[in-house]
Amino acid sequence: MIRFEHVTKRYAERGDALRDVSFTLEPGEMAFLTGHSGAGKSTLLRLIGLLERPTRGRLSVAGQDLGALGRRQIPLHRRRVGMIFQDHRLLPDRNVFDNVSLPLLAAGMHPRELGKRVRAALDQVGLLRLEHALPTSLSSGEQQRVGIARAVVARPPVILADEPTGNLDPALSREIFHLFERFHQVGVSLLIATHDLELIATQGHRTLRLHQGRLVADSGNW
Ligand code: ADP
Ligand code: ADP
Repeated sequence: MIRFEHVTKRYAERGDALRDVSFTLEPGEMAFLTGHSGAGKSTLLRLIGLLERPTRGRLSVAGQDLGALGRRQIPLHRRRVGMIFQDHRLLPDRNVFDNVSLPLLAAGMHPRELGKRVRAALDQVGLLRLEHALPTSLSSGEQQRVGIARAVVARPPVILADEPTGNLDPALSREIFHLFERFHQVGVSLLIATHDLELIATQGHRTLRLHQGRLVADSGNW
């Protein structure tokens, strides 16, 4: 589902954020991405979401070589990849329903169908009753669940999460991971960047570890 072949990302002023990274994430696979701050985790996720382009190497998602996609095809690609951020990135002046509907509006979906899909996504994360609330009135865990609903509403085959539980206490973190498990069970491919080694240890999923931009371990033995 995701294939990196000798991918390097260089920032002029900082050197290589990723160096010669190769791996494959199979369809339906759920894996963690770990490593110290600055190891390259966010960069790797941003390349998959086409928020950035690699300096060298090849990268494909769902069989599509991303190097072959032009600028106008990027919005379509982004709908295939749901992204979840630590800081949620919700629009503060739009209510929960409107925030979650953004990817579908961008896709030009009919309002009736859109309403159904947004409510189905809110129901999945247990927030149906809060559809009219503004994000600022919600707890941190609720805001993160809105971010997750927005990431899944267009039913992408791939979900990426960048430190999704970074601001949450252990009980809320487990709730969020429980949601990820449910997407995993219905066949979504997930790549989750996290520092939370304790949680990773309890999960038994594949773990990719980055160190200074290199992929130094794959699986549980780090
Ligand atoms: P992580 O997510 O593991 O903390 P990042 O991918 O954010 O790591 O960063 C990897 C390295 O690349 C760091 O040295 C960071 O400062 C650098 N970096 C990330 N984004 C940029 C950018 N847009 N411009 C320059 N350097 C960057
Ligand atoms: P996060 O990992 O929480 O998404 P980052 O700190 O990696 O946040 O990046 C936030 C923004 O700042 C991104 O657009 C990234 O490209 C940019 N950025 C990160 N590190 C650097 C850096 N060293 N120099 C310039 N821009 C950076």
